[in-house]
Amino acid sequence: MTVRQDVGVVIVAGGTGSRVGGPELKQFRWIAGKPMLLHSVQRFQARADVAMVVCVLPRHFAGDPPPWLFQSDLDRLLVATGGKERGDSVYNGLDDLPEECAVTLVHDAARPFVDDATIDRVVEAARAGNGAVPVLPVVDTIKETDEQGTVLRTVPRDRLWHAQTPQGFPRAMLEEVHVRAKRDGVSATDDAALCERYGHRVVVVRGSELLMKVTEESDFARAEALLERSGE
Ligand code: C5P
Repeated sequence: MTVRQDVGVVIVAGGTGSRVGGPELKQFRWIAGKPMLLHSVQRFQARADVAMVVCVLPRHFAGDPPPWLFQSDLDRLLVATGGKERGDSVYNGLDDLPEECAVTLVHDAARPFVDDATIDRVVEAARAGNGAVPVLPVVDTIKETDEQGTVLRTVPRDRLWHAQTPQGFPRAMLEEVHVRAKRDGVSATDDAALCERYGHRVVVVRGSELLMKVTEESDFARAEALLERSGE
């Protein structure tokens, strides 16, 4: 069976990673044997359905990318320049995707251990015409407070989810919402939020523990331990 090679991936690595601190960019730091960003680039490029991966890098690095980035399939790699907010970076990356990419995935470089099973679920839901978000269930009890920290209520958690990436979309949907958001001056912490805002159907699919976001210093060791345990 021939696989349709029509998936375009935008990996956003355009942030300055200020939460981890230090002079080094978080998304370029090594984790489990290679730079964080390279993990997801190689994972996506290992798939037959992926036509192109666009890495969105901070301005300075977009003109002079780190040499290890070229340890990937250069025929399916483009580099774009990051913007002020995450949404601006996605917008710039999206602009570079070739015509044939009818399905688009947007992935945070800060989630290095993306697995094929999650990508499959996301691509399938996006091919069906939906926005698709990989999620994990919320397991803690959730409290809502007032500004003074007094609990107002306990929020039922059975319909609450932690959203991850890669998120998938029909390309036309993602382009439309980013153009509208730019025009309206709207920003969001993920792409699905823009689709929700502009009335598109977004569904959840099962995500993965391994897709944890590496944000704080302590996350590096935790993510590596999870990877080791998973046998991925
Ligand atoms: O800041 P946050 O942790 O939400 O960033 C999520 C992802 O978006 C990271 O991979 C980061 O590099 C990227 N980003 C970006 N351009 C920005 C801000 C964040 O590509 N201006």
